[in-house]
Parts: sequence; structure tokens; C-alpha cells
Amino acid sequence: DYRSGSQIREDFLRFFEGKLHRRVHSSSLVPQNDPTLLFTNAGMNQFKDVFLGAEKRDYTRATTSQKCVRAGGKHNDLENVGFTRRHHTFFEMLGNFSFGDYFKKDAIAYAWELLTSPEWFGIDPAKLYVTIFEGTPQVPRDDEAEQFWIATGVPKDRIFDMPAKDNFWQMGDTGPCGPCSEIFYDLGLAASETGEDKPFPQDDQRYVEIWNLVFMQFDRASDGALTPLPKQSVDTGMGLERISAVLQGVISNYQTDLFTPLIAKAAMLTAGVLEETFDPKVLKILSPIEMAISDDPAAASLRIIADHARASTFLISDGVQPSNEGRGYVLRKILRRAIRHGRSLTLRGHFMHEMVFAVRDEMKAAYPELVDTAERVAKVVLAEEQQFARVLEVGSEKLDGLIREVRSDGWMSLLAPYLEKLGEINKQRLEIAAQLQKPSYGTKFDFGMLSSIVGEVFSADETSAIAQQLSVAKFVVSGKKAFQLYETYGLPLDFIADAAHDANMAFDFEGFEAAKEEEQQRARASWKGGSQKSASPVYRELAKTEFEGYSTLRVDGAKVI
Ligand code: ATP
Ligand code: MG
Ligand code: MG
Ligand code: MG
Repeated sequence: DYRSGSQIREDFLRFFEGKLHRRVHSSSLVPQNDPTLLFTNAGMNQFKDVFLGAEKRDYTRATTSQKCVRAGGKHNDLENVGFTRRHHTFFEMLGNFSFGDYFKKDAIAYAWELLTSPEWFGIDPAKLYVTIFEGTPQVPRDDEAEQFWIATGVPKDRIFDMPAKDNFWQMGDTGPCGPCSEIFYDLGLAASETGEDKPFPQDDQRYVEIWNLVFMQFDRASDGALTPLPKQSVDTGMGLERISAVLQGVISNYQTDLFTPLIAKAAMLTAGVLEETFDPKVLKILSPIEMAISDDPAAASLRIIADHARASTFLISDGVQPSNEGRGYVLRKILRRAIRHGRSLTLRGHFMHEMVFAVRDEMKAAYPELVDTAERVAKVVLAEEQQFARVLEVGSEKLDGLIREVRSDGWMSLLAPYLEKLGEINKQRLEIAAQLQKPSYGTKFDFGMLSSIVGEVFSADETSAIAQQLSVAKFVVSGKKAFQLYETYGLPLDFIADAAHDANMAFDFEGFEAAKEEEQQRARASWKGGSQKSASPVYRELAKTEFEGYSTLRVDGAKVI
């Protein structure tokens, strides 16, 4: 029985209402009283002071579906988006909270009931794993949680001890914290990275974290000391997109109904200009379901557009404006990353503002404010598209040229040992072929094209050995050349670095910094007005800004599919 993302959200909230939780509306993505936090990144943000005992509410149990953005600060999933199956910049975190009301026992029992009861999510317990805090000299192992999991029906061999970095959740360097239990779902071998049958937790494509239950127990002081909170509390977070993937029987969040309409819309907007600039790469992609999972770079671009459309729509709706600093800069970065991926799909017209209406249509039932804000949001997005187009007009062609040049130089030097045997004509054909590859399509050599050229001279085995060598090569975009684009055409550094990343190339940040430094020295020496641009690039400013915010102690181990 199929369950839509909207139904799942509603079922979660109804389940906890049934357990006497107050349904509280999502707070804004812009944290209200917390300058240390870039964007709301967890359901507990709006209850921070309640946990600390500094604020009272007329309820002790709450449930929410919270808008979250993790695209900066300590939780930054921006780079993962499009490449892992389970990370978004914007996502919805479903949560239940106890403010000094119930604690571990009920939190665990509720979670298990919701997940496994046939009347609710009906997940086969044989697919679930749980983790508990293994303990440190300061805080003992969470034997209690283990006992409660066992009492709930989880076999002992399904419960795994994890270190503090995974299972001691902490809001930041200071503030409420405590041990946690994470619940993982086994997506099965089909989702596996290696195709090998590896036990939990060894394959993070196959075993996906769906829910984190935090047992809030302490307040951490700046010297690291832990004092018990006035009341023991509970804070949980479950990604709606991930649980939807599980309940819809797919292996990627992008295959759920929360994303496929957006991916389809992005593809349509792309196809709309195909007549003019025909690109077989895009046509190869058939259905939104396939696009949701394909590792074709064009499909990744569509996923990125879908994801970033959600993030920018909600951020602008919540009052963020594209700008050159702080929150506005992160928004600008998200928007421009999406626009760049649209362009890589041969889209030359403005399209991102139309994605806003698609997001509104998908999300307005849960977030009615979008009905009022969408027109305004679309205008802001269009203005950004127009402004960015002016910046890119010249610069991006040059950047594409640089990427092509790096790749073709790289290939030619790898092919050097074979060139003599290939002969001059074939060498030229190869060079042209390398130049013709689209900049965003990675370093993967078009095998058909290669074999048609190389295969005339070499055997099939030799040809495939050569292709193999070319496809694993990782080339480097020169920082010095990138600096020229930055300086001459005003291309943002992260734009250049992203393009390199997308082309599966390394970016020489040090060379870039060195070239910039050299230029500044020159400018200072000549006293002829050092370029303002190189004096304080926004990117550096942002990198320097410390957004402490809430964070877990986790080190994110997202893998690239
Ligand atoms: P991961 O280890 O997979 O990055 P996390 O441990 O960083 O996840 P938490 O801080 O525990 O995530 O957040 C609670 C829940 O929110 C997670 O269990 C997951 O279901 C969901 N979640 C976290 N980050 C993202 C994201 N970038 N996109 C979608 N869902 C997310
Ligand atoms: Mg995790
Ligand atoms: Mg977690
Ligand atoms: Mg994470």
C-alpha cells in the first residue's frame, strides 16, 4: 500500500498527537533568537530554551515537522547534494519532544511502535538496527537504552555500541546534550555500494540512518563540564525524505514522490529549449524515476536543481535575500549552483524561478504560506538569474574552455606513450574529441569514441586498458589560471571550484591563493589602486564567519555514489 510523503508526514504527527503531543508548526528557517546559528538545522532548535529550563510552554510534549537547511555552518551537506542518495540542503525533520515529561523508556517504545506496528509504518523489524552510546570516562555506557530496546523486542545482536562522535549528541560546544540512539534501515543489497554482503554498519549506502533519538540529560559548560539538566528530556529527528524512501520501497530519497515531480519539472524546463541546443545526454534520461537514481551527470544536475529549488524557495519565503554575506550569500551560492547545473543541461533561458511554482504546488498543503509568498519568491529568483547571467556571459565560456583544456592536456599526456604508434592524424582526432566533451561530464572518456579512434591501431584489450587508465585519472585545475578568470571576468571562486568538482577534477586552492596574494602585492607596490575585487572576496569572508550553532559530534561520512 503506497503512502505519499504528505501522508507519511501526517501519519507521524497524528501518531504523536495520539500520544498526547501538541502539534507545533515548523519554525522559520531563519533562527529567531540565535545569532550563532546560520539556519534552522534541527527540530529542537525552536525548543532550545525549553530544554534549558529557561522557557516554559503550556505543554510538555510536542511534535513537529520542521523545515531544516544544512548548507553552511557545522552541518553542511551542500557538497553532498546530487551525489548521495540521502542528503539534501533543505529537508523536513519529523520530531517528537518531551520537556521533562517522558524519557528513554517511552521514547524508545514510541519509536518502535510507529516504525513496526502494522497499523502505522509496518516496517519489518528484521530490517532495522539500533545504536547506543558506548560510554566515556565522563558519561557511562547507555545500558538503560540497551535494556529498553531489548524490552521493546530488538534482539541484542541488532544493538551496536557507538562512540561519542556518533552517539553523544550535543547542541554545540555548550548547551543541552546527551547520549542518543540512532535507528538504521537496511535498504538491501540493491542499495549496496559494493554489491558485497557486508554486515551492519559497514556499508553506508545500504544501511541508512533514519531516526535519531536524543536523551537530553546534561548542559555542557564552556569548560566542558557536564551538569544534569533540571529535567531529563527527549529530542528526536527523522528525515521525512528518508523514511519516505523506506516506506515507498526505493533506495534513494530522490525516487520518492517528494522529488520526482520536481525532477520531472526540471527536465521539462530543460527539454523546452532542446530544439535549439540539442543534447543527446539529456534525452538519454527517460523517466523521473531513472533520473532520480542514475549516476549520469545530467541526472545529478536535475537532482541538484530539484533540491536547490526547495531550499531557495523556502529560504526566500522565510525572508532571506540573495546577498554577498552571511545567510544571503549561502542562498546566493545555492541558487547559482542550481543555475550552473541548469546551464550544463544546455539550458540557456532562465528556469529557476519557474521551479518555485513547482515547489509551491508540491508543498503548499503542508506549508500554506507558500501560496502567498511564491510570486515574490519567483521574482527574487528571476532577478538573481538575470544578474548571474550577466556575470557569466563571458566568464563561463572561458571556464568551460579551461576545463576542456585541463582534460584534453591530461588525456594527451596520459596517452603520450601511445601517440607515436597512433600517428599524427589520430592524435589530432583525439585532441578534437577531448575538446568536444562537455565540461560538466566528468573525466570519463567516451569509450565508444575512444575505441573508434584508438581501436584502429590497438587491440581491444589494449584499448580497454587505455580507457580504464583515462577514466580513473584525476586532473587538477590550475589555481593560477582560475585566478585569471576570477580577476578578469568576476567569476566567483566557489563557482570555479564547483565546476572543477563536477568535472571530477581537483582544484588547486593553494595556487589560487598564491596568485591572489601575488596580485595584491603588485597592487600595493604600484599604488595604482589595488583591485577591490581581490581585496575582499566574499567567499573568504564567509569562510571566516563562524557559525557555531547546534551540532552533533558526528563526522559526516557521506559517500558519493
Ligand atoms: P547523516 O549521518 O546521514 O549525515 P546526521 O546524523 O547528520 O545524518 P542528525 O543530525 O541525526 O543527522 O539528524 C536527524 C535526522 O535527520 C537523520 O537521522 C536523518 O534522517 C535526517 N537528516 C540529517 N541530515 C539530512 C540531510 N542533509 N538531508 C536529509 N535528511 C537528513
Ligand atoms: Mg548520522
Ligand atoms: Mg544522527
Ligand atoms: Mg550529517
